[in-house]
Formats: sequence, C-alpha cells, structure tokens
Amino acid sequence: MRSFVLLASLLLTATTFAAKPNVLVIVADDLGYNDVGFQGSKEIPTPQLDKLAAQSVRCTNGYVSHPFCSPTRAGMLTGRYQQRFGHENNPAWLPESTVAGLPLSETTFPTLMKQAGYTTGAVGKWHLGAHPQFHPNRRGFDEYFGALGGGHVYFPGDKGGPEYQIPLNRNGTDEPQTKYLTDQFGEEAAAFVGRHAGEAKPWMLYLAFNAPHTPLQAPPEWLEKVGHIGSEQRRTYAAMVCAMDAAVGGVLAKLEETKQRENTLVYFVSDNGGPNLAARNLTNFTDNTPLRGAKGAVYEGGVRVPFLVSWPARLKPGTYDQPVMALDFLPTALAAAGAADVTPKNLDGVNLLPFLAGEKTGAPHETLFWRSGGPGGNNAVRRGNLKLVRIGTEAPQLYDLGADVGESKNLAGERPDVVRELVAAIAEWERGTVAPIFESPRAGKKKKAK
Ligand code: CA
Repeated sequence: MRSFVLLASLLLTATTFAAKPNVLVIVADDLGYNDVGFQGSKEIPTPQLDKLAAQSVRCTNGYVSHPFCSPTRAGMLTGRYQQRFGHENNPAWLPESTVAGLPLSETTFPTLMKQAGYTTGAVGKWHLGAHPQFHPNRRGFDEYFGALGGGHVYFPGDKGGPEYQIPLNRNGTDEPQTKYLTDQFGEEAAAFVGRHAGEAKPWMLYLAFNAPHTPLQAPPEWLEKVGHIGSEQRRTYAAMVCAMDAAVGGVLAKLEETKQRENTLVYFVSDNGGPNLAARNLTNFTDNTPLRGAKGAVYEGGVRVPFLVSWPARLKPGTYDQPVMALDFLPTALAAAGAADVTPKNLDGVNLLPFLAGEKTGAPHETLFWRSGGPGGNNAVRRGNLKLVRIGTEAPQLYDLGADVGESKNLAGERPDVVRELVAAIAEWERGTVAPIFESPRAGKKKKAK
C-alpha cells in the first residue's frame, strides 16, 4: 500500500512537472512604449496588463524585429529575421497575389507547435497575405477568427478604407462584426481558452489585436474613463488601449477560472512603437518616452516595445535587462513544451527560458539587427549597449544605450573602431538576407526614419 501511494505520488509529481504549458501570445498593434501602466504611464489606466506584468518577467530591453506591422509578425511567427525571406514590407490586400504574404517556404510557429502536440488557434489581425494560400488555417492554425487585412474598423459600420471593411473571417467563412472589435476579439480568445481547458492536448493561441492602431474609434465608456486627457486624438487612443486592457483581462480571468493560469506561458508585446503620423495630422497621440523616434524608425522608438513573459509554474516574476527579441518566442515555447527536437536549425531566435529563470548568465544574443526598406535602406545593429544606426546613405550614428537610451549623443566620431566593427557586422548579416519580394501598398514613398 505504502509503495502504491509512493508510486502514485511520484507519477502525479512527474505529470505535474512534465505537463506541457499552454502558450498564449498577445500582440498589441502600434502601442506606445510608455502607454501602459507597467511601463510608467500615469495617463492611461491598464490594471489588467499591470497585473499580468506583476506575474511576468518584464524585459526592459525587449524588441521586435521590425518597426512596422507585417514584417514583425512574419519574424515572430517564424523565429527568423524576416529579411531572410524577403518579407520586409506590408503586403497590400491582393487576394489574387501568391507573392504578397508570408512565404510558404517558411515553417510557422503554430505548425511546429502542432508537431509538438498542440491545438493551435489565432484570433485577430492577420496581415500576412490575402490569397487563400496564406490563410491562417493553411499556415498552421487549427482555428481562426479575425480580420485578415492590416486593420479593421472598430464599430460595425464605422468609416475606414476598403481593407478595413473586409468582413471578419472564421475558418475561411465571412462572419459579421457584432460589437466593438476589441471586445469581440477578447471574447473569442476567452472562448478558445475555455473550450480547450481540460483537454489532453495543450493549446497555443495567437491573439493579435488590431488595437490601438488607427482608425481612432473608441467606446464611450472608456472615453469617459480617460476624460482627463485634453487632446481628443490622444484621449480616443487611450480609450482604445483601455478597451484592449479589459479584453486581455477577460482572457486572463478565463485562464484563472479554468485553472490554467499557472501552467500557461503568456507573452505580451506591441508589434512596433507608437506611431507619429504627421501626414495625416495625427501627431503626439502615442507616447514612446524616453525613446527616440516612432513606428517606422530603426531608432529605439520604432522597435523597443513593452515586452512580458509570464509562466507562473516556471518563471519568477521580475525584470530582465539583456536584449531579447520577439523572434525568441517560438524557440522558447518549443523548449517549454519539451519539444526542442522539433526546433528548426535555421532560427535567429533563441530559447530564453534559462536566461529568464536566472540559470544562465550572459546575453542571449551577441548582436541584434534591424533593416527597413531593403538593402540600402535603414539599418540598425546593437551589440552590448552600443547601437549603430545608418539611415540610407547618411553617415552611421553610434549610441551608448546604457547611458543614453534616447539616442541623443552621437558617438560615431569618438569611436571609429566600433563604427567599423558594427558596419562590418551589418554587411555580414545582410549576406544572409534577400531583397524584399513585395512592396508596401504605398510603394514609391520610402519610409524615412525621424
Ligand atoms: Ca503595427
């Protein structure tokens, strides 16, 4: 009897520790670096995200691999620099194009999670190709509900461009928008989490809000909540952030209610920095303080983002200061699933678990790279605290992010040795990249960093 109890308890322990975690990837769209409470905002209340942050390792040097929407997603969902396969622009909404989308040559995050035994789902913005071959269901997701384009109107019937009016889609079939879109996405995600609770298979859910990306359309109750903000544009944007915060709260509450929170690995990032859209008279409605630049720039304001990793069963909450990138999500999740054997060898991302758990010291990445606009466009490279920025053919700039996170003091003249070294590092990295295989919709207007 005693040995039976012992065996049973050993088995139980083994099961508890071996259980693969669920994986929840939450992506905000165009969220400013300083626009959530846990990043320091005093203007925009985000109690749900702050609660998540308190349960997380907050990565203070957390990056995405691109300063705008679609390429960042292509990197995150492959674990590879998207320039390696030509996905360096936003695909236009071209349902007939077999080129404008995440290349089929690439193996996706959900495809690999399925190989590791997971049920996979995606809710929200896709923006990785309009042709049916690029549909989320064809790219590794068992279930999909969301907006397939680069954005969407928020209230049914609201104003927005044609791409933003495309009907919502569930597993290949159009479906009506029933309410404020952020609420609808939050409820869909919570339903997924509830539906798959207690199943033998773990799940992975990619929840990509289009919020708080323009158009600036917010529900009255949240506008009231941020009535203290004077600027109408910023107030509306802030209310959209609040709505997203509440939607995230709903998903996390469902995780707790179904007793899955402890063993769910949750990531939270924005896909790029807060935008500054002077051409549309939309300026200063997001806040990237203390960073320089905004969406579109390879300065920190374009690519350094709010970045959380939470897995209560494994990771002690705290902060982590070494540079990390959303390319790391995929290999980290596979390692968490005990499925390192299915991890492809050609990834740029690395498994962060031993670093975030404090078992391994040093930097997960020796060097990080950014490029926007193809070869000859804008480059940036970070090695340690030194970051080199090269805007087109202009002379390279060098910053010490340890002393100058705002990239205000150009050290290029003082450190020609480092400039040479980092320019050479870019050249070497670029040998492993290709030219963009499709252009952004507004082709011809080269994105220029501020
Ligand atoms: Ca974006």
